[in-house]
Amino acid sequence: MKKIVVLGAGYAGMRVVKKLVQGHADAQIVLVNKNPYHYEATQLHQVAAGTKEAADITFDIRPLLAGRKNVEVVIDEVTRVDQDAKKVELKNGEPISYDYLVNALGFESETFGIKGAEENGWPLVDIDTALAARKHLEDTLRRYKTSQDPNDLRVVVCGAGFTSIEYLGELVYRMPKMAKEYGFPLDKVKIDCIEASPKILPMFEPNLADWGVKYLESKGVNFHVATPITEVKPNAVVSNDVEFPANTIIWTTGVRGSHVIADSDYDQKRNRVVVEDDLRITGHPDQFLIGDVSAVPNPSNGRLYPTTAQISIALADTAAANLIALLKGGQTSKFVFKPMGTVCSLGPHAGIASIDMMGHWKLKGSKVSIVKKIVNDRSVLELANIRTMLESN
Ligand SMILES: Cc1cc2nc3c(=O)[nH]c(=O)nc-3n(C[C@H](O)[C@H](O)[C@H](O)COP(=O)(O)OP(=O)(O)OC[C@H]3O[C@@H](n4cnc5c(N)ncnc54)[C@H](O)[C@@H]3O)c2cc1C
Repeated sequence: MKKIVVLGAGYAGMRVVKKLVQGHADAQIVLVNKNPYHYEATQLHQVAAGTKEAADITFDIRPLLAGRKNVEVVIDEVTRVDQDAKKVELKNGEPISYDYLVNALGFESETFGIKGAEENGWPLVDIDTALAARKHLEDTLRRYKTSQDPNDLRVVVCGAGFTSIEYLGELVYRMPKMAKEYGFPLDKVKIDCIEASPKILPMFEPNLADWGVKYLESKGVNFHVATPITEVKPNAVVSNDVEFPANTIIWTTGVRGSHVIADSDYDQKRNRVVVEDDLRITGHPDQFLIGDVSAVPNPSNGRLYPTTAQISIALADTAAANLIALLKGGQTSKFVFKPMGTVCSLGPHAGIASIDMMGHWKLKGSKVSIVKKIVNDRSVLELANIRTMLESN
């Protein structure tokens, strides 16, 4: 029997295992993940802002896959893929050999080599980093009562991409509650968001993006566009000769793929590998790369699709179908992607959305939070069952 090894239990990895099981793949499946749980990465900003608990967005992997005789779960950290020997090297355990590999190791924080970013910025890339960012924020705000240091009430969010904007939405929602709880003056809080490009939320139509920006401004966020960050100090973000002081610096400027990609000598850029149209990689017909470690060209314009949970799930469906075809001695199919649109939350009760399902829909305000909830609940439902979905509310 052939052995399929799946690396990473994120959206892409979990989905590929599920589809292989559902498709009765005649193979032994080994899923390797560094934690015993899957987490909903699309909700990490809520954990970091303290509007959701980590337990609300994490799910134990083993019970989800219990009773699947041909599925083995290995909890360990992947350190390298030996592509020639067809082996996955682990931090603690023995190497695992494979006939087919699905690499879905996901994303890490990108610092673009900016001085001090790694040491002084709080990234939001997994449960540990989200919890650490939350603890730092709460400790710093709480400290103001005794320190009276104005920087304790200043937060700088670096970058104005999706994650930054969604984090800001949660932060401004929770801030008045924290002011009451920790006894600091709300009118002394200063929140700056610093972005290198001249536009915020360029993936949305301008009127939607403007609405989102104005909404956050009305809640106290100061946006600074066309402001490239040149250095991050322990208590300030620097853009050329301007300093933005703050004792909490959130680093959400962007992501790259897992460092395991570069460590394994893939032909990569920012730890992402350009895949063929059937999601395998050139020269290695035994390997599929999906999710945030893959770079997938859009055949209609040659540009790479943005990395999202939405595309990760679609990639997993095609990779699983292609693996099942290969196991049966058949041919692989091309990946075809039909984006369903983009939803950006601005706290629990607002957001903007551009949806492409049964026409084109532009939404803003409180109805978007209902759409976002449906998307999140669907993802949980996909993963587990109705009981888990209800429990996570
Ligand atoms: C705050 C935030 C909000 C977002 N909102 C949206 C949204 O609304 N819609 C959307 O479509 N996308 C959104 N995204 C992007 C989306 O989360 C990612 O594109 C998606 O998580 C990628 O899925 P993945 O399965 O490739 O990787 P991941 O979700 O990163 O999963 C990778 C898995 O691999 C494991 N792993 C990593 N390294 C190792 C190792 N060395 N050894 C073993 N295991 C390892 C990790 O623990 C994890 O379980 C958001 C991202 C963030 C951070």
